[in-house]
Amino acid sequence: MATERTFSIIKPDATERNLTGAVNAVIEKAGLRIVAQKRILMNRREAETFYAVHKERPFFGELVDFMISAPVVVQVLEGDNAVVKYREIMGATNPESAAEGTIRKLYAKSIGENSVHGSDSQENAKLEIAQFFSGNEIVG
Ligand code: GDP
Ligand code: MG
Repeated sequence: MATERTFSIIKPDATERNLTGAVNAVIEKAGLRIVAQKRILMNRREAETFYAVHKERPFFGELVDFMISAPVVVQVLEGDNAVVKYREIMGATNPESAAEGTIRKLYAKSIGENSVHGSDSQENAKLEIAQFFSGNEIVG
């Protein structure tokens, strides 16, 4: 299996409840390494750009408001099969459907306030990482 990178966000509902370490404990236990990390307050334009693919969805406004409501932690994760592995340990978008032991099952509050983001493909991982990190901020 190839070593890959994926993009992760610890969302406002999790930073507000002081769950940053708890989320990252699940990530590290799964064998993924955090190779870049920063805590930021996203602005509206950054959040709208990041979630542009969802701009026609009814929840878009709510999603953007949520993502700028409190700090987030943006991270790059590295490991074998990182994109798929991280999606697996995140669990389903709706925590009610998420498998036992996944981050969303453990910590998410609702389908909207669901604690974490993870890239859904290697191509999107590259684009999302580039939105928040320059090359010299990623140290594997
Ligand atoms: P993900 O890839 O599992 O994060 O899910 P999506 O790409 O489908 O959606 C992006 C994000 O939009 C989700 O993680 C949620 O924060 C939010 N979202 C998705 N569906 C809904 C919904 O039905 N209602 C609300 N309020 N938010 C949603
Ligand atoms: Mg998605």
